[in-house]
Amino acid sequence: MGHRVTLIPGDGIGPEVTDAARRVAEATGVGIEWDVVEAGEAAIRSAGTPLPEAVLESVRRNRVALKGPITTPIGSGFRSVNVALRQQLDLYASVRPARAIAGEGTRFPETDLIVVREATEGLYAGVEHWVDRDHTAAETVNVITRKASDRIVRFAFELARRERRRKVTAVHKANIMKTTGALFQTAFREMAAHYPDLPADERLIDNMCMQLAKKPEEYDVLVTTNLFGDILSDLCAGLAGGLGIAPGALYGEGIAVFEPVHGSAPKYAGQDKANPVAEILSLELLLRHVGEAEAAERIWRAVWETIAEKKVVTYDLALPGYTRRPVPASTCSAMAREIARKVPLVDLTAPRPAPRAAAGTGAGLDPNLEA
Ligand code: NAD
Repeated sequence: MGHRVTLIPGDGIGPEVTDAARRVAEATGVGIEWDVVEAGEAAIRSAGTPLPEAVLESVRRNRVALKGPITTPIGSGFRSVNVALRQQLDLYASVRPARAIAGEGTRFPETDLIVVREATEGLYAGVEHWVDRDHTAAETVNVITRKASDRIVRFAFELARRERRRKVTAVHKANIMKTTGALFQTAFREMAAHYPDLPADERLIDNMCMQLAKKPEEYDVLVTTNLFGDILSDLCAGLAGGLGIAPGALYGEGIAVFEPVHGSAPKYAGQDKANPVAEILSLELLLRHVGEAEAAERIWRAVWETIAEKKVVTYDLALPGYTRRPVPASTCSAMAREIARKVPLVDLTAPRPAPRAAAGTGAGLDPNLEA
C-alpha cells in the first residue's frame, strides 16, 4: 500500500538533503507519493508568504510530513515558519534522539539520549513587545500552562516505557523562575508518581549542560520546556556526532512532521556538501510512524554501515578537526547514493549495533507504535 506524504524541501541545504532522503526512500521500495509544497523563502517568492495555507492543508490532509530546514531571519523579517507550523498544527512534542553512530565524529561514543521538548509554548509562544517607544526595553513572555506541561511529561514517560529506557530527567530552572519553572516541576513530579517503574530525577538547566558535557552516558530521556529543549537538543546532537546526523520528529494528535535538528546552513546551500544523514534518519522515523518498520530498519542499518565503513562520508565525518581518522570528504549526493545502494543489501538478521547495550530499538519513539 502506498503512502501520501507532504514534503517541504525548505531553504538553504533543505532541497539537497530532502532530495537525498527521497533517493533513499526510493531504494526501500516503499510506495510514497510525495505532495511537495513550498514554505520559507521559496514560498515568499512564489506565494508572497512564508507559510501558505496550502502547506498547512497538505499536512492536515496527509497527517504526515517530511520537512527540510527553513530559514528564520534574526531580529526582523517574518515570524519563524517552524514555530508557526508547530503552533498551528499543535505539534506539541518535539522528539530528538541523539545517538552516536559507530563512534564517529564524537568524543562520547556511548551517547544515547532522547530530548523531549515541549514545542508550542514557553518563550517561543510569540508573546513579546517593546516596553517603550524608543525600543530601549523589551519583554518576551514565558507562557507555561499546566495542560501543556502535563501532556509533554506524560509523553516523555510513555516514550521511556515503550523504549525501555533507564530514567527520565526533567530539566528546568525552578529555583529562579518561581512560577513557570515551578509549574513545570510540579507537573513532572506528579506525573512521575504514576510511573513507579521508571526512575525520575531533575536538573537545573545550567547544571544539566555541565553534566552532559562531562558524562552524557549517565542520562537518558530528558524532558523540558521549549527554549531549554532547543538548546539542549543541539548540545546533545554535538555530543552524538554533530548536527549532520541528528534527526527529529514533531508529534501532535494524529499528525506528525519529521525534520532534522539542524537549520538551513545557508553557507553550504547549493554546494552538495551538507551531511544528508539527519534528514535520512528523520525519514527513518517517518517510515516507522507509517508502519514501514522493515524499510526503516534497513535505512538505519545502511546509515550505520556507511558511517562505520567511512568510505563515502561528508566533510563533518571526514576531515581533520572533525574526526580522529581523516578521509577524503564526499558530497551530500554521493553519501545518499551510497546509503541507498546499501539499503536493499542490509542483513536484517545481524545483531543491531547500538551505542550502548541497554539501548532500545528506536521503534518505540513514536507514540503511535506499540513497543
Ligand atoms: P544550522 O543548523 O543551519 O547550522 C549550524 C552549523 O551546523 C552550520 O554552519 C554547519 O557547520 C553545521 N551543519 C548544520 N547542518 C549540517 C549538515 N546537514 N551537514 C553538515 N553540517 C551541518 O544553524 P544556524 O546557522 O544557526 O541557522 C541557519 C538558519 O536555519 C537560521 O535561519 C535558523 O533560524 C534556521 N533553523 C531552522 C531550523 C528548522 O527549520 N527546524 C532549525 C534550526 C535553525
